[in-house]
Amino acid sequence: MTKTMTVRQFFQRFPDDEACLRHVMEVRYGLRHTCRKCKTEATFHRMSDRRAFACSQCGDHVYPTAGTVLQDTRTPLQSWFYAIYLFVVTRHGVSGKELQRQLGVTYKTAWRMGQQLRLLMTSADEFRLLKGHVEADEAFIGGRLRRVKGRGKHLDNKTTVVGLRERGGLTQTVVVKDTKLGTLKRVVLENVEPGSIVSTDEHSGYNLLVEEGYTHGAVKHSKKEWAKTEDGIRHHTNSIESFWRLFKNSIRSTHIHVSEKYMQRYLDEFTFRSNKRQMGNAMFDLLIASFDRRGQGRFHFRCFGVGVA
Ligand SMILES: [Zn+2]
Repeated sequence: MTKTMTVRQFFQRFPDDEACLRHVMEVRYGLRHTCRKCKTEATFHRMSDRRAFACSQCGDHVYPTAGTVLQDTRTPLQSWFYAIYLFVVTRHGVSGKELQRQLGVTYKTAWRMGQQLRLLMTSADEFRLLKGHVEADEAFIGGRLRRVKGRGKHLDNKTTVVGLRERGGLTQTVVVKDTKLGTLKRVVLENVEPGSIVSTDEHSGYNLLVEEGYTHGAVKHSKKEWAKTEDGIRHHTNSIESFWRLFKNSIRSTHIHVSEKYMQRYLDEFTFRSNKRQMGNAMFDLLIASFDRRGQGRFHFRCFGVGVA
């Protein structure tokens, strides 16, 4: 993995709100860019009496945080930056409690900031169809297993999710309402390029993939079959399962409980980190630059997600 900043380096680079505002300006607009008003290539200098920069040619004002969550926030920019830093470097995610402690804000503020940053990660992780060799596996997150009289183990309060992971590539995850045939098939159709190899467990929901032009192989976990070779292709779901392991452990240890309503945001947070892990410090700037793209992108991926605004 590319190196990310240490805490010490973070505070050297962003010692105060002024340094943060300047950085937002640099990442979103550039300190030198074509002025939207006078249309000349101009340098922009910091105005002393407002959170703005002025064009050296015509004096037009640019507010770097305009249209972002940073615009009207009472939380210092440096706190936002540090929260983004924590989200980028922490493999297991950041809880509201942790943010509250680290930033010295109220729990409510910390929780809101966390949700905003998850939305930011959603919009910064642009969608593309997966291809090559893709593993698919469903998982049940949160809640607890409850024993119901006469029904054996019963899934209580759990959210059903499907994960897709390219061998050595990108991961995508989506909340689904069930694991019925039509649902699982649709997830693959919407997210994986036809012609790709798809490895799954024996769940019948994936059975029709061959008719759709995929090369499909399934391992029988119930019979302790974890991998098999078919026509020279090694089928297993080890990579997507390791993603689910990290996610489940993190949710359990960091967040205690995540309701179905917010599950997709947490999934997006973890897939973002997984997909951008090679970027290192650039991941940080990608999030800063994404401030003006909130709520956009990957929308079509959501069509069978539940209740995520
Ligand atoms: Zn100008």
